[in-house]
Amino acid sequence: MSDPLSRGAPERKSTRKRQLPIRYREDNEYETKATAKTAEKREENRLKLEIKQLKSENDDIVGKNETMIALQKEMETERDEFKRKGEEMRLNTQTIMDNLSASETRIANLQKDFLEKFNVHRADYVKLKKMKDELLQLKNNVDPENEDKNEREKIENLKKCPYCRGYFTNESVAPLILKCGHILCKRCCIVDYEQNGSIFCIGCQNAEPIANVEEINEFPVCHSILSIM
Ligand SMILES: [Zn+2]
Ligand SMILES: [Zn+2]
Repeated sequence: MSDPLSRGAPERKSTRKRQLPIRYREDNEYETKATAKTAEKREENRLKLEIKQLKSENDDIVGKNETMIALQKEMETERDEFKRKGEEMRLNTQTIMDNLSASETRIANLQKDFLEKFNVHRADYVKLKKMKDELLQLKNNVDPENEDKNEREKIENLKKCPYCRGYFTNESVAPLILKCGHILCKRCCIVDYEQNGSIFCIGCQNAEPIANVEEINEFPVCHSILSIM
């Protein structure tokens, strides 16, 4: 018996029991007891080993569980961070939109303001231009040079027939005084009589009938006009 703890030992022992002499019986009993004890011990060791292994597995599971909890916490932290950043971005976007809206309102108000001011300025400009024209007119009216010019024009017009605009002379273009008191040259009087049987006065805007050419010869000549020629 080199190894009494081996599994084959108890079987061999039962066959040997009957064959062994008496002096070996006690030894055999001892061996039987020792073998039982050894089996118990072996079972205990096996259980211990199993417990140890289960413990180790348990520790492993606990470790893995802790790792997973840590990972979950990490992911939760990351998720919260994303959530926080998302909210921050939403707020930023809202702020940008608000600013844009405010800018649009400000620009619209500025445009409105500008247009109002522009219209006021334009109205002022028109008023000022009108005033300037009036002032210029007044200045021209009081300007002695202009007054002289107007007077010269009036005198120059007196020297001309109001109808044909020809300068009066002593003879064919003589300034004749019509019945109404206005002046017309002799030539115009004759032409008008020959065409219409009347003499049209520009001053009165009226045509005076003439019976014959002798009537024209009787119109007095305005010597005052001839004196300024
Ligand atoms: Zn004339
Ligand atoms: Zn007249």
